[in-house]
Amino acid sequence: MPHLMAFGGVDYLDCDSLLNEEQRLVRDTVRAWVEERVLPIIEEAAWEGRFPRELVPEMAQMHLFGSTISEYGLPGLDNIAYGLIMQELERGDSGLRSFVSVQSGLVMFPIYAFGSKEQKDRWIPRLARAEAIGCFGLTEPDFGSNPGGMRTTARKDGAGYVLNGAKAWITNGSIADVAVVWAKLDGVVRGFLVEKGTKGFSTFEHKGKMSLRASVTSQLAFEDCRIPADAILPGVEGLKGPLSCLTQARYGIAWGALGSAMATYQAALDYAKARKQWKDRPIAAHQLVQERLAWMITEITKGQLLAWRLGSMKDAKTMKPHHVSMAKRNNVWVARECAKLARETLGANGVVNEYPVFRHLANIESVYTYEGTHDIHTLVIGEAVTGIPSYNPPSE
Ligand SMILES: Cc1cc2nc3c(=O)[nH]c(=O)nc-3n(C[C@H](O)[C@H](O)[C@H](O)COP(=O)(O)OP(=O)(O)OC[C@H]3O[C@@H](n4cnc5c(N)ncnc54)[C@H](O)[C@@H]3O)c2cc1C
Repeated sequence: MPHLMAFGGVDYLDCDSLLNEEQRLVRDTVRAWVEERVLPIIEEAAWEGRFPRELVPEMAQMHLFGSTISEYGLPGLDNIAYGLIMQELERGDSGLRSFVSVQSGLVMFPIYAFGSKEQKDRWIPRLARAEAIGCFGLTEPDFGSNPGGMRTTARKDGAGYVLNGAKAWITNGSIADVAVVWAKLDGVVRGFLVEKGTKGFSTFEHKGKMSLRASVTSQLAFEDCRIPADAILPGVEGLKGPLSCLTQARYGIAWGALGSAMATYQAALDYAKARKQWKDRPIAAHQLVQERLAWMITEITKGQLLAWRLGSMKDAKTMKPHHVSMAKRNNVWVARECAKLARETLGANGVVNEYPVFRHLANIESVYTYEGTHDIHTLVIGEAVTGIPSYNPPSE
């Protein structure tokens, strides 16, 4: 990769001074690890369509899985420190951040929040040490934005349950040891833990993905899949189960997207200062190029303040799902726009993988769509301010 200056952070308004010592330490640790271990290999991994699984034990050693949990020897970090982890990981790659989001927010969180003591004791330590990988199965081939329409069913049968149905677009699906699967039991959405190798449970990788190429995305199929009675998550019923998991993961995405935006902004800035055109002047000397950089840094700074405020509210337990919608929607959009502007700034070099920009540009398309599309978060905010749900049909 061509020389890019070592990353010193993107911090126009001294947002650093809003962080405490522990938060800075966590961020700097993950930042240094991403520089040393992720950036040198990620372009090739994405090109090959390979999830860099060799990095998973190292992330476990840094306690990046379930890092906000205080039991089971986990560090019990605050939510801003957690957000900063997501930011730094996504500066590396959205696929890597997705892996940690799923393991922590979509698998460990529901087991920890809604699981029985036996389920927690069995899975939380193993997931934390990455001796087990998890996935979260909500989306179905025919139900994405409206998961309440799901067709996957669970039927009580003797001492256990029988699952039938299919899930689509499931991150980590075919490498997971345990799948958190949402299915309707007597018409009510319930969560089930389905272990790899269970008879009647199979997975298939989605092929041809142009985005999140360094992440595994799979379909899950359940055909008369018999699971034991203790596979059900006892602590939650209804769509609020999966939606509360999504609130956790979306919170992380709001921070993660800033990492993607910082990566593309920094690449554009470095390139604009180094690239000379017209009488040996750097392209950074041109007003149109500066306008792009000014837009990026302004929006990133606004996004940082939004994420920080959201983190403070999450720690104070005053954060509501519609607050998260605003941050996910805004920060992912900002990252998407930054990726486009950076790509333009790099000219022809913007379309090759010698630079990180096009990979981020492609990745952010998935992030824009998953965990509630930009449109759906618009409707959530619209409902919050008007009191009128405009989904059609209304959500549960
Ligand atoms: C790489 C990747 C990884 C993923 N990982 C997971 C995972 O781990 N687990 C999981 O469960 N899912 C996962 N997903 C699925 C993701 O959450 C869904 O793709 C997302 O919810 C959107 O659903 P959909 O693709 O079916 O789009 P649709 O719901 O069909 O939407 C298509 C378009 O219609 C718009 N639209 C839909 N309804 C409305 C409305 N009421 N008003 C206005 N516009 C509307 C949408 O905004 C969008 O633009 C992943 C997806 C991707 C791409």
